[in-house]
Amino acid sequence: MPRKPSKPRPNPCPTCQGTGEVSRTVRVGRKRRAVGEQSGICLTCLGSGQATD
Ligand SMILES: [Zn+2]
Repeated sequence: MPRKPSKPRPNPCPTCQGTGEVSRTVRVGRKRRAVGEQSGICLTCLGSGQATD
C-alpha cells in the first residue's frame, strides 16, 4: 500500500495574508507626518506568505 505524501495545506500568514509583504506607514519629522507607505518583508513568515505551524 503506497504511502500518500502529505500535502502541505495552504495556510496563509495571518500577518500579511499570504502576500509575504507588509506595508507600513513612513513618518517623518516631529509631527510624524505620514509621507507614504513602504513595503517590506513580512517578519512573521519571512516573505514566504505561509504561516509556519
Ligand atoms: Zn507573512
